[in-house]
Amino acid sequence: MLLGELREKVVEYGKRMLENKLTTGTGGNISIYHRESGLMVISPSGLDYMETRANDVVVMNLEGETIDGYRKPSSEYELHRIFYLNREDISALVHTHSIYATTISCMNWDLPPVHYMVAVAGDNVRCADYATFGTRELAEKAYRAMEDRKAVILANHGMLAGAATLEQAFKIAEDIEFCCQLFYRTKSMGEPVIIGQDEMVLMRERFRTYGQR
Ligand code: 13P
Ligand code: ZN
Repeated sequence: MLLGELREKVVEYGKRMLENKLTTGTGGNISIYHRESGLMVISPSGLDYMETRANDVVVMNLEGETIDGYRKPSSEYELHRIFYLNREDISALVHTHSIYATTISCMNWDLPPVHYMVAVAGDNVRCADYATFGTRELAEKAYRAMEDRKAVILANHGMLAGAATLEQAFKIAEDIEFCCQLFYRTKSMGEPVIIGQDEMVLMRERFRTYGQR
């Protein structure tokens, strides 16, 4: 099977996305870009994550044409392809409808650095202006709002996270969902204390050397 290992990975993380409550139903989608061949593997549209098999995952080129697979690709393939065409630091994307990020998205708010973990995505996470799901307009708005960031909130819709690997993109989606929950909870209590810009610059440095080498 063409790009079989990557297709297996999309299946595995789709299940994980549902189990970790990062999405509900068939909401959200996942892709990995194979830079050597210029092809991306992307989850099929509207298929139960628990029922999805590797051969349901679609292989596409960056012109948006299906190269291998019998399923209809995710309706958001434009949202994935625009990043692979233009961002060398991004080779995997996770789009979620997780409850707290989506709650913030329905307020059309940016996520400020309410907790230092926001730094996994950047100095904040911007909210891109609303556009209809599955359109190039949504892709373009998300792309612009994610400049210098690894995540973006999609107005009245959800969240998108991207990184060099699917593991990293998924982790960012989880961390930002956690921060969105903190923002929601603290906003319910009053006004959260927001971390200053200088400290966020320092955080970026700290994350470069954080954890096991
Ligand atoms: P797909 O099932 O087509 O990937 O669409 C889900 C979604 O989240 C649309 O924004
Ligand atoms: Zn969506």
